[in-house]
Amino acid sequence: MSLVCRSRLWLLSSILFSAFVQPLAAAQAHPNATGSQAVAARQKEQTGPQAGSQEGYKLPPDKLAKAIALSRIRNILDIAGSVWGIVFLWLLLAVRGWSGLEGWAARRSSRRWVQGLLFFAAFFVITTLASLPLDLYGHHVERSYGISVQGWGSWFGDMGKGLGLTLIFGSLLLLFFHWIVRAAPRRYWLWIWLITLPLMVLVAFAQPLIIDPLFNKFEPLAKTDPALVQKLEKVVQRTGTDISPDRIFLMKASEKTNGLNAYVTGLGASKRIVVWDTTAGRIPDDEVLFIFGHESGHYVLHHILKGLDAMAIGLFFIYWACAGFAAWLIRRFGPRWGAPDLVSRTGFVVLLFTISIVSFLLEPVGNAVSRHFEHQADVYGQEAIHGIVPDPQKATVAAFNDLGAAWLDDPHPSPFIEFWLYNHPSTRRRANFALYYDPWANGGHGRFFAK
Ligand SMILES: [Zn+2]
Repeated sequence: MSLVCRSRLWLLSSILFSAFVQPLAAAQAHPNATGSQAVAARQKEQTGPQAGSQEGYKLPPDKLAKAIALSRIRNILDIAGSVWGIVFLWLLLAVRGWSGLEGWAARRSSRRWVQGLLFFAAFFVITTLASLPLDLYGHHVERSYGISVQGWGSWFGDMGKGLGLTLIFGSLLLLFFHWIVRAAPRRYWLWIWLITLPLMVLVAFAQPLIIDPLFNKFEPLAKTDPALVQKLEKVVQRTGTDISPDRIFLMKASEKTNGLNAYVTGLGASKRIVVWDTTAGRIPDDEVLFIFGHESGHYVLHHILKGLDAMAIGLFFIYWACAGFAAWLIRRFGPRWGAPDLVSRTGFVVLLFTISIVSFLLEPVGNAVSRHFEHQADVYGQEAIHGIVPDPQKATVAAFNDLGAAWLDDPHPSPFIEFWLYNHPSTRRRANFALYYDPWANGGHGRFFAK
Protein backbone atom coordinates (compact mmCIF):
# COMPACT_ATOMS: atom_id res chain seq x y z
CA MET A 1 0.00 0.00 0.00
CA SER A 2 1.93 2.96 -1.21
CA LEU A 3 1.54 6.49 -2.34
CA VAL A 4 2.21 5.72 -5.95
CA CYS A 5 1.88 2.58 -7.97
CA ARG A 6 5.57 2.00 -8.40
CA SER A 7 6.44 0.36 -5.18
CA ARG A 8 7.31 -3.24 -4.72
CA LEU A 9 4.62 -3.27 -2.10
CA TRP A 10 3.23 -6.71 -2.70
CA LEU A 11 6.26 -8.59 -1.64
CA LEU A 12 4.15 -11.45 -2.53
CA SER A 13 4.44 -10.37 -6.05
CA SER A 14 8.14 -10.95 -6.13
CA ILE A 15 7.94 -14.28 -4.40
CA LEU A 16 4.58 -15.90 -4.22
CA PHE A 17 2.53 -14.37 -6.95
CA SER A 18 5.04 -13.39 -9.50
CA ALA A 19 6.73 -16.65 -8.77
CA PHE A 20 3.63 -18.78 -8.81
CA VAL A 21 0.65 -16.90 -10.09
CA GLN A 22 2.45 -14.98 -12.78
CA PRO A 23 5.62 -16.88 -13.46
CA LEU A 24 6.85 -14.54 -16.13
CA ALA A 25 6.55 -11.46 -14.01
CA ALA A 26 9.15 -12.78 -11.60
CA ALA A 27 11.91 -10.81 -13.18
CA GLN A 28 9.93 -7.63 -13.43
CA ALA A 29 10.90 -6.47 -9.99
CA HIS A 30 11.73 -3.04 -11.33
CA PRO A 31 9.52 -0.59 -9.52
CA ASN A 32 8.05 1.08 -12.54
CA ALA A 33 5.07 -0.97 -13.43
CA THR A 34 2.05 1.22 -13.79
CA GLY A 35 -1.04 0.60 -12.03
CA SER A 36 -5.43 0.98 -13.27
CA GLN A 37 -9.40 2.56 -12.83
CA ALA A 38 -12.95 2.60 -11.83
CA VAL A 39 -16.50 2.13 -12.89
CA ALA A 40 -18.58 5.16 -13.57
CA ALA A 41 -20.01 5.44 -10.07
CA ARG A 42 -16.64 5.39 -8.38
CA GLN A 43 -15.16 7.73 -10.95
CA LYS A 44 -17.61 10.33 -9.84
CA GLU A 45 -16.71 9.82 -6.23
CA GLN A 46 -13.01 9.98 -6.86
CA THR A 47 -13.15 13.08 -8.96
CA GLY A 48 -14.99 14.75 -6.15
CA PRO A 49 -17.71 17.32 -6.36
CA GLN A 50 -17.70 18.95 -9.76
CA ALA A 51 -17.55 22.32 -8.10
CA GLY A 52 -15.18 23.89 -10.57
CA SER A 53 -13.42 23.31 -13.81
CA GLN A 54 -9.93 24.02 -12.49
CA GLU A 55 -7.38 21.27 -13.02
CA GLY A 56 -5.49 20.16 -9.93
CA TYR A 57 -2.58 18.48 -11.74
CA LYS A 58 -0.60 20.48 -14.26
CA LEU A 59 2.77 19.94 -15.91
CA PRO A 60 4.89 22.52 -17.75
CA PRO A 61 4.88 21.95 -21.56
CA ASP A 62 8.29 20.24 -21.75
CA LYS A 63 7.43 17.80 -18.97
CA LEU A 64 3.97 17.25 -20.38
CA ALA A 65 5.35 16.07 -23.72
CA LYS A 66 7.77 13.74 -21.94
CA ALA A 67 5.05 12.43 -19.62
CA ILE A 68 2.79 11.57 -22.55
CA ALA A 69 5.57 9.82 -24.46
CA LEU A 70 6.85 7.94 -21.40
CA SER A 71 3.38 6.85 -20.31
CA ARG A 72 2.74 5.38 -23.72
CA ILE A 73 5.91 3.30 -23.50
CA ARG A 74 5.15 2.21 -19.93
CA ASN A 75 1.63 1.13 -20.82
CA ILE A 76 2.73 -0.79 -23.88
CA LEU A 77 5.52 -2.49 -21.92
CA ASP A 78 3.14 -3.38 -19.13
CA ILE A 79 0.53 -4.99 -21.37
CA ALA A 80 3.10 -6.49 -23.72
CA GLY A 81 4.91 -8.02 -20.74
CA SER A 82 1.78 -9.76 -19.49
CA VAL A 83 0.73 -10.96 -22.93
CA TRP A 84 4.24 -12.13 -23.80
CA GLY A 85 4.39 -14.06 -20.53
CA ILE A 86 1.27 -15.97 -21.48
CA VAL A 87 2.27 -16.45 -25.12
CA PHE A 88 5.71 -17.70 -24.12
CA LEU A 89 4.28 -20.38 -21.82
CA TRP A 90 1.95 -21.45 -24.61
CA LEU A 91 4.72 -21.45 -27.24
CA LEU A 92 6.87 -23.79 -25.20
CA LEU A 93 3.87 -26.04 -24.65
CA ALA A 94 3.11 -26.09 -28.38
CA VAL A 95 6.69 -27.01 -29.39
CA ARG A 96 6.86 -29.51 -26.50
CA GLY A 97 9.61 -27.49 -24.83
CA TRP A 98 8.31 -28.05 -21.29
CA SER A 99 7.85 -31.70 -22.02
CA GLY A 100 11.47 -31.82 -23.24
CA LEU A 101 12.58 -30.13 -20.03
CA GLU A 102 10.65 -32.74 -18.05
CA GLY A 103 12.55 -35.49 -19.86
CA TRP A 104 15.85 -33.70 -19.24
CA ALA A 105 15.16 -33.42 -15.49
CA ALA A 106 14.15 -37.08 -15.34
CA ARG A 107 17.48 -38.13 -16.90
CA ARG A 108 19.48 -36.08 -14.38
CA SER A 109 18.32 -37.95 -11.29
CA SER A 110 16.21 -40.90 -10.23
CA ARG A 111 14.81 -39.04 -7.24
CA ARG A 112 11.49 -37.38 -7.90
CA TRP A 113 12.15 -34.37 -5.68
CA VAL A 114 15.51 -33.68 -7.34
CA GLN A 115 13.86 -33.92 -10.76
CA GLY A 116 11.16 -31.53 -9.57
CA LEU A 117 13.62 -29.00 -8.18
CA LEU A 118 15.66 -29.09 -11.40
CA PHE A 119 12.56 -28.72 -13.53
CA PHE A 120 11.11 -25.79 -11.61
CA ALA A 121 14.45 -24.01 -11.22
CA ALA A 122 15.00 -24.32 -14.99
CA PHE A 123 11.44 -23.14 -15.50
CA PHE A 124 12.19 -19.93 -13.59
CA VAL A 125 15.49 -19.32 -15.36
CA ILE A 126 13.89 -19.80 -18.78
CA THR A 127 10.90 -17.56 -18.08
CA THR A 128 13.15 -14.89 -16.56
CA LEU A 129 15.33 -14.91 -19.67
CA ALA A 130 12.23 -14.69 -21.84
CA SER A 131 11.09 -11.49 -20.14
CA LEU A 132 14.60 -10.03 -19.97
CA PRO A 133 14.48 -8.06 -23.24
CA LEU A 134 11.36 -6.17 -22.16
CA ASP A 135 12.81 -5.60 -18.69
CA LEU A 136 16.06 -4.28 -20.16
CA TYR A 137 14.21 -1.95 -22.45
CA GLY A 138 11.99 -0.75 -19.60
CA HIS A 139 14.98 0.13 -17.46
CA HIS A 140 16.71 1.79 -20.41
CA VAL A 141 13.64 4.00 -20.93
CA GLU A 142 13.32 4.93 -17.25
CA ARG A 143 16.99 5.89 -17.25
CA SER A 144 16.80 7.91 -20.42
CA TYR A 145 13.86 9.91 -19.05
CA GLY A 146 15.82 10.60 -15.86
CA ILE A 147 13.40 8.74 -13.59
CA SER A 148 15.79 5.94 -12.72
CA VAL A 149 19.41 6.69 -11.80
CA GLN A 150 20.27 3.06 -11.16
CA GLY A 151 23.35 1.86 -13.03
CA TRP A 152 23.23 -1.34 -15.02
CA GLY A 153 25.51 -3.21 -12.63
CA SER A 154 23.23 -2.49 -9.71
CA TRP A 155 20.16 -3.26 -11.82
CA PHE A 156 21.52 -6.65 -12.84
CA GLY A 157 22.46 -7.22 -9.21
CA ASP A 158 18.84 -6.67 -8.13
CA MET A 159 17.68 -8.89 -10.95
CA GLY A 160 20.07 -11.62 -9.80
CA LYS A 161 18.89 -11.32 -6.21
CA GLY A 162 15.26 -11.51 -7.33
CA LEU A 163 15.99 -14.57 -9.42
CA GLY A 164 17.97 -16.13 -6.56
CA LEU A 165 15.03 -15.71 -4.19
CA THR A 166 12.67 -17.11 -6.79
CA LEU A 167 14.95 -20.08 -7.46
CA ILE A 168 15.10 -20.96 -3.77
CA PHE A 169 11.59 -20.20 -2.55
CA GLY A 170 9.69 -20.40 -5.83
CA SER A 171 11.13 -23.79 -6.79
CA LEU A 172 10.42 -25.25 -3.34
CA LEU A 173 6.91 -23.83 -3.43
CA LEU A 174 6.14 -25.25 -6.86
CA LEU A 175 7.65 -28.59 -5.85
CA PHE A 176 5.33 -28.64 -2.86
CA PHE A 177 2.28 -27.55 -4.87
CA HIS A 178 3.02 -30.12 -7.53
CA TRP A 179 3.28 -32.78 -4.84
CA ILE A 180 -0.20 -31.73 -3.66
CA VAL A 181 -1.54 -32.14 -7.19
CA ARG A 182 -0.17 -35.68 -7.29
CA ALA A 183 -1.45 -36.50 -3.81
CA ALA A 184 -4.96 -35.13 -4.38
CA PRO A 185 -5.62 -34.94 -8.13
CA ARG A 186 -9.28 -33.98 -7.65
CA ARG A 187 -9.32 -31.46 -4.81
CA TYR A 188 -5.75 -30.23 -5.09
CA TRP A 189 -6.82 -26.65 -5.82
CA LEU A 190 -8.57 -26.44 -2.47
CA TRP A 191 -5.49 -27.69 -0.63
CA ILE A 192 -3.23 -25.29 -2.52
CA TRP A 193 -5.58 -22.49 -1.64
CA LEU A 194 -5.56 -23.42 2.05
CA ILE A 195 -1.78 -23.43 2.07
CA THR A 196 -1.53 -20.17 0.14
CA LEU A 197 -3.33 -18.30 2.93
CA PRO A 198 -0.77 -18.74 5.74
CA LEU A 199 2.01 -18.32 3.19
CA MET A 200 0.65 -14.92 2.17
CA VAL A 201 0.56 -13.85 5.82
CA LEU A 202 4.07 -15.16 6.38
CA VAL A 203 5.45 -13.36 3.34
CA ALA A 204 3.66 -10.13 4.25
CA PHE A 205 5.20 -10.36 7.72
CA ALA A 206 8.70 -11.23 6.55
CA GLN A 207 8.92 -8.83 3.62
CA PRO A 208 10.21 -5.75 5.47
CA LEU A 209 12.46 -7.82 7.70
CA ILE A 210 14.11 -10.18 5.23
CA ILE A 211 13.37 -9.30 1.63
CA ASP A 212 13.29 -5.49 1.39
CA PRO A 213 16.73 -5.02 3.03
CA LEU A 214 18.22 -7.15 0.24
CA PHE A 215 17.31 -4.46 -2.28
CA ASN A 216 17.46 -1.16 -0.36
CA LYS A 217 18.97 0.39 2.75
CA PHE A 218 16.71 1.45 5.60
CA GLU A 219 17.24 3.41 8.77
CA PRO A 220 14.97 5.04 11.34
CA LEU A 221 13.84 8.41 9.99
CA ALA A 222 14.52 9.90 13.43
CA LYS A 223 18.21 9.32 12.86
CA THR A 224 18.49 11.63 9.85
CA ASP A 225 15.55 13.98 10.29
CA PRO A 226 14.40 14.28 13.90
CA ALA A 227 12.69 17.61 13.17
CA LEU A 228 10.49 15.99 10.55
CA VAL A 229 9.68 13.12 12.88
CA GLN A 230 8.51 15.64 15.45
CA LYS A 231 6.11 17.09 12.92
CA LEU A 232 4.96 13.60 11.92
CA GLU A 233 4.23 12.84 15.57
CA LYS A 234 1.53 15.54 15.42
CA VAL A 235 -0.19 13.53 12.69
CA VAL A 236 0.32 10.38 14.77
CA GLN A 237 -1.42 12.08 17.70
CA ARG A 238 -4.33 13.28 15.58
CA THR A 239 -4.81 9.86 13.99
CA GLY A 240 -4.65 8.19 17.40
CA THR A 241 -2.31 5.55 16.03
CA ASP A 242 0.46 4.00 18.04
CA ILE A 243 3.02 4.48 15.29
CA SER A 244 6.12 5.08 17.34
CA PRO A 245 9.14 6.80 15.78
CA ASP A 246 10.99 3.49 15.55
CA ARG A 247 8.34 2.26 13.13
CA ILE A 248 8.99 5.14 10.73
CA PHE A 249 11.83 4.34 8.35
CA LEU A 250 13.77 6.19 5.72
CA MET A 251 14.63 4.24 2.58
CA LYS A 252 17.69 5.26 0.58
CA ALA A 253 15.84 5.33 -2.71
CA SER A 254 17.96 8.13 -4.15
CA GLU A 255 20.67 5.65 -5.12
CA LYS A 256 18.28 4.23 -7.68
CA THR A 257 15.53 6.69 -8.54
CA ASN A 258 14.39 10.29 -8.66
CA GLY A 259 10.79 9.25 -8.04
CA LEU A 260 8.95 10.09 -4.82
CA ASN A 261 7.19 7.51 -2.70
CA ALA A 262 6.28 6.24 0.71
CA TYR A 263 4.57 3.04 1.71
CA VAL A 264 3.28 0.98 4.58
CA THR A 265 4.36 -2.63 4.82
CA GLY A 266 4.55 -5.60 7.15
CA LEU A 267 2.07 -7.16 9.50
CA GLY A 268 1.83 -7.06 13.29
CA ALA A 269 5.27 -6.71 14.81
CA SER A 270 6.86 -5.98 11.42
CA LYS A 271 4.36 -3.31 10.39
CA ARG A 272 5.97 0.03 9.51
CA ILE A 273 5.80 3.18 7.44
CA VAL A 274 8.64 3.78 5.01
CA VAL A 275 9.39 7.17 3.46
CA TRP A 276 11.82 7.39 0.56
CA ASP A 277 14.74 9.77 0.99
CA THR A 278 13.73 11.27 -2.37
CA THR A 279 10.58 12.46 -0.60
CA ALA A 280 11.60 13.52 2.90
CA GLY A 281 13.79 16.60 2.58
CA ARG A 282 13.16 17.15 -1.14
CA ILE A 283 9.60 18.43 -1.03
CA PRO A 284 8.09 20.77 1.59
CA ASP A 285 7.36 19.18 4.96
CA ASP A 286 3.63 19.95 4.67
CA GLU A 287 3.49 17.68 1.63
CA VAL A 288 5.45 14.97 3.41
CA LEU A 289 2.90 15.24 6.24
CA PHE A 290 0.09 14.56 3.76
CA ILE A 291 1.98 11.59 2.33
CA PHE A 292 2.52 10.30 5.86
CA GLY A 293 -1.18 10.87 6.55
CA HIS A 294 -2.04 8.83 3.45
CA GLU A 295 0.20 5.99 4.60
CA SER A 296 -1.24 6.24 8.11
CA GLY A 297 -4.63 5.75 6.46
CA HIS A 298 -3.51 2.39 5.09
CA TYR A 299 -2.16 1.56 8.52
CA VAL A 300 -5.24 2.62 10.51
CA LEU A 301 -7.77 1.25 8.04
CA HIS A 302 -5.99 -2.15 7.98
CA HIS A 303 -5.58 -2.12 4.24
CA ILE A 304 -2.84 -4.75 4.18
CA LEU A 305 -5.00 -7.23 6.05
CA LYS A 306 -8.07 -6.33 3.98
CA GLY A 307 -5.99 -6.68 0.81
CA LEU A 308 -4.89 -10.14 1.92
CA ASP A 309 -8.53 -11.04 2.67
CA ALA A 310 -9.63 -9.85 -0.75
CA MET A 311 -6.84 -11.78 -2.37
CA ALA A 312 -7.70 -14.92 -0.42
CA ILE A 313 -11.31 -14.75 -1.61
CA GLY A 314 -10.21 -14.01 -5.16
CA LEU A 315 -7.69 -16.84 -5.19
CA PHE A 316 -10.32 -19.37 -4.10
CA PHE A 317 -12.25 -18.73 -7.30
CA ILE A 318 -9.12 -18.34 -9.41
CA TYR A 319 -7.74 -21.71 -8.29
CA TRP A 320 -11.11 -23.39 -8.71
CA ALA A 321 -11.63 -21.96 -12.20
CA CYS A 322 -8.06 -22.70 -13.26
CA ALA A 323 -8.33 -26.31 -12.10
CA GLY A 324 -11.30 -26.77 -14.44
CA PHE A 325 -9.69 -24.80 -17.26
CA ALA A 326 -6.43 -26.76 -17.00
CA ALA A 327 -8.26 -30.10 -16.95
CA TRP A 328 -10.07 -29.12 -20.15
CA LEU A 329 -6.87 -27.93 -21.87
CA ILE A 330 -5.13 -31.20 -21.03
CA ARG A 331 -8.01 -33.29 -22.40
CA ARG A 332 -8.02 -31.22 -25.58
CA PHE A 333 -4.28 -30.48 -26.16
CA GLY A 334 -2.45 -32.66 -23.63
CA PRO A 335 -1.32 -35.32 -26.11
CA ARG A 336 0.01 -32.66 -28.50
CA TRP A 337 1.85 -30.79 -25.71
CA GLY A 338 3.34 -33.88 -24.10
CA ALA A 339 1.18 -33.39 -21.03
CA PRO A 340 -0.75 -36.67 -20.64
CA ASP A 341 -2.30 -35.53 -17.35
CA LEU A 342 -2.13 -32.83 -14.71
CA VAL A 343 0.06 -35.00 -12.53
CA SER A 344 2.95 -34.73 -15.00
CA ARG A 345 5.25 -31.73 -14.64
CA THR A 346 4.25 -30.44 -18.05
CA GLY A 347 0.65 -30.79 -16.94
CA PHE A 348 1.49 -28.62 -13.96
CA VAL A 349 2.87 -25.99 -16.33
CA VAL A 350 -0.52 -26.07 -18.08
CA LEU A 351 -2.03 -25.18 -14.71
CA LEU A 352 0.45 -22.28 -14.35
CA PHE A 353 -0.46 -21.23 -17.89
CA THR A 354 -4.16 -21.02 -17.01
CA ILE A 355 -3.34 -19.10 -13.83
CA SER A 356 -1.37 -16.51 -15.83
CA ILE A 357 -4.28 -16.06 -18.24
CA VAL A 358 -6.87 -15.72 -15.51
CA SER A 359 -4.66 -13.38 -13.43
CA PHE A 360 -4.15 -11.15 -16.43
CA LEU A 361 -7.87 -11.02 -17.17
CA LEU A 362 -8.64 -10.29 -13.52
CA GLU A 363 -6.02 -7.56 -13.18
CA PRO A 364 -8.69 -4.84 -13.50
CA VAL A 365 -10.61 -6.37 -10.59
CA GLY A 366 -7.61 -6.36 -8.27
CA ASN A 367 -6.75 -2.85 -9.39
CA ALA A 368 -10.28 -1.60 -8.74
CA VAL A 369 -10.02 -2.88 -5.16
CA SER A 370 -6.61 -1.27 -4.82
CA ARG A 371 -7.86 2.06 -6.20
CA HIS A 372 -10.66 2.00 -3.67
CA PHE A 373 -8.17 1.60 -0.80
CA GLU A 374 -5.91 4.28 -2.26
CA HIS A 375 -8.73 6.76 -2.56
CA GLN A 376 -9.71 6.08 1.05
CA ALA A 377 -6.12 6.69 2.10
CA ASP A 378 -6.06 9.96 0.13
CA VAL A 379 -9.18 11.18 1.94
CA TYR A 380 -7.75 10.02 5.26
CA GLY A 381 -4.43 11.72 4.60
CA GLN A 382 -6.01 15.04 3.74
CA GLU A 383 -8.19 14.89 6.84
CA ALA A 384 -5.26 13.81 9.02
CA ILE A 385 -3.33 17.00 8.36
CA HIS A 386 -6.29 19.32 8.97
CA GLY A 387 -5.37 21.67 11.78
CA ILE A 388 -1.70 20.72 11.48
CA VAL A 389 -0.74 22.33 8.19
CA PRO A 390 -2.12 25.78 7.29
CA ASP A 391 -3.99 24.60 4.18
CA PRO A 392 -4.61 20.84 3.72
CA GLN A 393 -6.10 21.29 0.25
CA LYS A 394 -3.12 23.25 -0.99
CA ALA A 395 -0.55 20.91 0.56
CA THR A 396 -2.29 17.84 -0.87
CA VAL A 397 -2.65 19.25 -4.36
CA ALA A 398 0.99 20.38 -4.26
CA ALA A 399 2.07 16.89 -3.15
CA PHE A 400 0.29 15.30 -6.11
CA ASN A 401 1.89 17.79 -8.48
CA ASP A 402 5.37 17.06 -7.15
CA LEU A 403 4.63 13.36 -7.30
CA GLY A 404 3.32 13.52 -10.85
CA ALA A 405 6.24 15.65 -12.03
CA ALA A 406 8.80 13.34 -10.41
CA TRP A 407 7.36 10.23 -12.08
CA LEU A 408 6.21 12.03 -15.24
CA ASP A 409 2.64 10.85 -14.78
CA ASP A 410 0.37 11.42 -17.75
CA PRO A 411 -2.25 14.05 -16.80
CA HIS A 412 -4.76 12.48 -19.20
CA PRO A 413 -4.44 8.70 -19.23
CA SER A 414 -6.95 6.90 -21.40
CA PRO A 415 -9.89 5.57 -19.35
CA PHE A 416 -9.18 2.06 -20.59
CA ILE A 417 -5.55 2.17 -19.44
CA GLU A 418 -6.61 3.57 -16.11
CA PHE A 419 -9.23 0.86 -15.76
CA TRP A 420 -6.89 -1.98 -16.65
CA LEU A 421 -3.50 -1.02 -15.31
CA TYR A 422 -3.79 1.61 -12.60
CA ASN A 423 -3.71 0.37 -9.02
CA HIS A 424 -4.03 3.99 -7.87
CA PRO A 425 -6.48 6.55 -9.22
CA SER A 426 -4.67 8.69 -11.79
CA THR A 427 -2.69 11.62 -10.41
CA ARG A 428 -5.13 13.99 -12.10
CA ARG A 429 -8.11 12.33 -10.44
CA ARG A 430 -6.39 12.42 -7.06
CA ALA A 431 -5.33 16.06 -7.38
CA ASN A 432 -8.79 17.10 -8.58
CA PHE A 433 -10.42 15.37 -5.65
CA ALA A 434 -8.05 17.09 -3.21
CA LEU A 435 -8.62 20.45 -4.85
CA TYR A 436 -12.34 20.37 -4.11
CA TYR A 437 -12.38 18.32 -0.94
CA ASP A 438 -13.16 20.65 1.95
CA PRO A 439 -15.56 18.95 4.39
CA TRP A 440 -14.78 21.54 7.05
CA ALA A 441 -16.42 24.36 5.11
CA ASN A 442 -19.67 25.41 6.82
CA GLY A 443 -18.64 23.73 10.08
CA GLY A 444 -18.69 20.16 8.78
CA HIS A 445 -16.21 17.39 9.39
CA GLY A 446 -14.52 14.69 7.38
CA ARG A 447 -15.23 10.98 7.02
CA PHE A 448 -12.61 9.73 9.43
CA PHE A 449 -12.25 12.49 12.01
CA ALA A 450 -14.80 14.20 14.24
CA LYS A 451 -13.32 17.62 13.53
ZN1 LIG B 1 -1.36 4.34 -0.84
